Amino acid sequence: MLLSLHNISKGYGSEAEGTYRKVLDGLSLSLNQGESIAILGPSGSGKTTLLSILGTLDFPDSGNIYFKAPSATAEILESSFTEKDNILSYSQKELEHFRNRQIGFVFQFHHLLPQCTLLENILLPTLTIKDKTKREATLARARVLMARVGILQYRNQFPNQLSGGECQRAALVRALINNPGLLLADEPTGALDEDNVNRLADLLLEINKQDGVSLIVVTHSISLAARMDKVYELKNGSLHLKNSAQ
Ligand code: ADP
Ligand code: MG
Repeated sequence: MLLSLHNISKGYGSEAEGTYRKVLDGLSLSLNQGESIAILGPSGSGKTTLLSILGTLDFPDSGNIYFKAPSATAEILESSFTEKDNILSYSQKELEHFRNRQIGFVFQFHHLLPQCTLLENILLPTLTIKDKTKREATLARARVLMARVGILQYRNQFPNQLSGGECQRAALVRALINNPGLLLADEPTGALDEDNVNRLADLLLEINKQDGVSLIVVTHSISLAARMDKVYELKNGSLHLKNSAQ
């Protein structure tokens, strides 16, 4: 077990003003190291809210989120989680470290900075690394990943000189640059044409299977969802397993 959500609830608005709306209602989810999960659900069902909570960009009103760093040697058992593994008890500094080192985000739109080259965009999450040797290793990793997704030749070009698919592949490399244990993708193929949908889907699966990065993908693409280990539907504030490959 890498990550475990227990009884998560989250709403928006104000009860006093009568605008309160519960979005997540006692939601639970367990994710194993290296596992891939698709989340389906209509617009407004809370998919982005859930991913934001998983990535600690937002916090639940109640519930717990347990996490243990991936381990090469030992399987992590759910029963071994203790309060110090509860993300919601982390200090601000621990949260930033967790988000920066363990989580990679890919969104529907690439969100690359237009004034930076592809390579500069990809290195943005590594700017806090001061150690020269580590910085060099990071640059080498950026080049390897860019070559792997087929954009190394565009490293010194700017996002507006490239296609949506190429930019989205750069966003994927940026998400992976710190070698996260978990990749969260929110409708990552939603703005791409069919060829690029397939190419990005292949890359997501390759990163998951070859590199062992756990993957949670929110998608409307049934064909992408069908390639994941498990498919859940988010409905009435909780997750319902639709099928499982295991
Ligand atoms: P999905 O990603 O499945 O389309 P979201 O998680 O974005 O759904 O939104 C779920 C519900 O919560 C929607 O009704 C949305 O309007 C509402 N919502 C999301 N974020 C906020 C926010 N920051 N403030 C108020 N309401 C929000
Ligand atoms: Mg959304």
